[in-house]
Amino acid sequence: MSAAPPNQARAGELRRLLQRAAHAYYVLDAPEMEDSVYDGLYKELLELEAAQPELITPDSPSQRVGGTPAEGFSSVEHRIGLLSLDNAFNPGDLEAWYSRLLKVLDRTGDLAMVGELKIDGNALALSYEQGLLVQAATRGDGERGEQITANVRTIASVPLRLQLENPPAWVEVRGEALIPDDTFAAINAERAARGEALFANPRNACAGTLRQLDPKVVAARRLDFFAYTLHLPEEWQSAGGDPPRPSSQWQSLQWLQAAGFKVNPNAELLPNLAAVQAFFSAWDTGRRALPYATDGVVVKLNDLRLQDAAGFTQKAPRWAIALKYAAEEAPSILLRLTCQVGRTGVVTPVAEFEPVPLAGTTVSRATLHNAGRLAELDLHAGDTIVVRKAGEIIPEVVRVLSELRPAGAVRLELPQVCPECGSELVREEGEAATRCVNSSCPAILRGALRHWVSKGALDVDGLGAKLIEQLVDRGLVGSIADLYGLDGALLASLERIGAKSADNLVVALAASKQQPWHRQLYGLGIHHVGEVNAKALAKAFPSAADLATATANTPESITAVFGIGAEIAQSLQQWFATPANQLLLEDLERLGFSLAAGPEEPGTGPETPLTGQTFVLTGSLPSLSRSAAQALIEAAGGKVSGSVSKKTSYLVAGEEAGSKLSKAESLGVAVLDEAGLLELLKAGSG
Ligand code: NAD
Repeated sequence: MSAAPPNQARAGELRRLLQRAAHAYYVLDAPEMEDSVYDGLYKELLELEAAQPELITPDSPSQRVGGTPAEGFSSVEHRIGLLSLDNAFNPGDLEAWYSRLLKVLDRTGDLAMVGELKIDGNALALSYEQGLLVQAATRGDGERGEQITANVRTIASVPLRLQLENPPAWVEVRGEALIPDDTFAAINAERAARGEALFANPRNACAGTLRQLDPKVVAARRLDFFAYTLHLPEEWQSAGGDPPRPSSQWQSLQWLQAAGFKVNPNAELLPNLAAVQAFFSAWDTGRRALPYATDGVVVKLNDLRLQDAAGFTQKAPRWAIALKYAAEEAPSILLRLTCQVGRTGVVTPVAEFEPVPLAGTTVSRATLHNAGRLAELDLHAGDTIVVRKAGEIIPEVVRVLSELRPAGAVRLELPQVCPECGSELVREEGEAATRCVNSSCPAILRGALRHWVSKGALDVDGLGAKLIEQLVDRGLVGSIADLYGLDGALLASLERIGAKSADNLVVALAASKQQPWHRQLYGLGIHHVGEVNAKALAKAFPSAADLATATANTPESITAVFGIGAEIAQSLQQWFATPANQLLLEDLERLGFSLAAGPEEPGTGPETPLTGQTFVLTGSLPSLSRSAAQALIEAAGGKVSGSVSKKTSYLVAGEEAGSKLSKAESLGVAVLDEAGLLELLKAGSG
């Protein structure tokens, strides 16, 4: 038996999965996947079918509307079919739709349109005869729907009699039945209390309610209804005080309102495509304040004669389109697995997949956290995965659509060895993380250096990730201590750094030696020792030597520190017992790091020209960060204050100094630049 060509096989699998999802969604009212995931897979199927029309089968979801009418209700044929809507997911899709429309109509220039909210409810077809509601049906498969008249009669916003003096022989009205958010929450709360399955969203709750066999239950659930489409007999003309026969969608909405229907008040007449975009953008945020769910906006050509001229495709009108809000979940194809090695050696698997737009950005990689999560997802190369990103939240792989797995796909696992240094990876029992334990692994070193110079640690300006990468890759830096042997000329020979910045970096590194003990401790990057713990430990143990002795001899004195538990104590013990770390401490001390707390109060140390002087810092200095400058001043016996007053001895002003500079000048306070400060400090230490 020969295997099907890849596209044919893929189209077949997509069709089967989409059919199953559509059944769960339309018939069982219990969706199996997010709408946006369905939309993404459906779009892929459409693209395959467009490229190779021979792939289209009569049962393809692209060839039919909705689901089959459910059993339990009699089915009725619609007088006029209820179609679906084509979707646009970005401005490009919208423009393409508009150009096609202009072409079909053989027009140029602007076409007036009506923008309506796309209410996430259920379409209903209401039939009136001589002004009386005679039948209400669901959309069903577009041709036949379920007859649910008794249920719809309980919806207060559906008029049982039209408010017209001379009602037409028949009127067909289409609109959306919906359940407001608060009612939805109440229904689910009741279901939870009774131990019943919850509805996935208000749309499903509404569909389930409309199919209740007992109209009393429907009445209790307080559905609402917005009308948006009107069909009148061709011969009908208004008489008496009745609204005139509409010639546009906008007038249809007015007619419906006059006849007693609730029309959504947010519809707008839009003169051109730019106005459509603005309407969509406004509702992208505005929808959050609505008391009911919407999943986009619907744009309809306003002129009914032009609508007629444009006509329909197999499934949807050519004269309307649904613009969908950005998805938070979407399908993508997994390309490969990569690994990141962090500063503590933890190896994080990362999924790389075909780029997908999600929550306003394009996403192509997502962390898989650890080996456990990787195994749980059971990823295979080429898998169709569901990726999620909501707002600012980091992207993640939610699950795999294993039905779409290519034949013979290989399971993806973490490598046995570190991708950076080749040493064997370790996963300790009971630990989620897999680690590289080679302390000279370049990835660990890069992470350690980035951490050492970071804001909360030594706060060295001008040493970014790219520069660190070059220093490590070229073998110029093999430990934190090596940073302090770099000279300006060598740094300037690297990429992305000029001579001036190189010199500034050397100054900033030298100044970082004065950062207080707790920052030095935090900068060492000991597992579990964050900024807060480092402060607490530095206070209890005023030097690295004290801390090292305590970890080795009296671990109980470590856990006696508030907030420090056994896990941290053990991690400290391990760190200080590691020979490479002992060497690092020796090197740092030799370089001039105190690795100890400074004098408690300025002034208790030896007298210097800075003793008792008050400094204020403003603007950005060329090489020193704020915290580095402060550390230097305090180490030399000075004080740093936040505001300028008569008592201020010096204002140290950098670029873009603002009101503090003018105040200092008006009070006659001495103003220094960075060079001036460094000179003063040199005099102080000399
Ligand atoms: P649709 O829901 O995208 O658009 C057509 C429907 O929009 C109409 O039937 C009507 O109910 C509604 N609508 C709301 N406001 C409207 C307005 N102002 N004017 C006109 N219509 C308005 O199309 P569809 O054919 O019902 O179904 C496709 C959608 O259903 C997909 O986009 C998908 O998100 C969802 N679906 C999801 C699953 C799943 O598994 N999650 C399965 C099948 C379908």
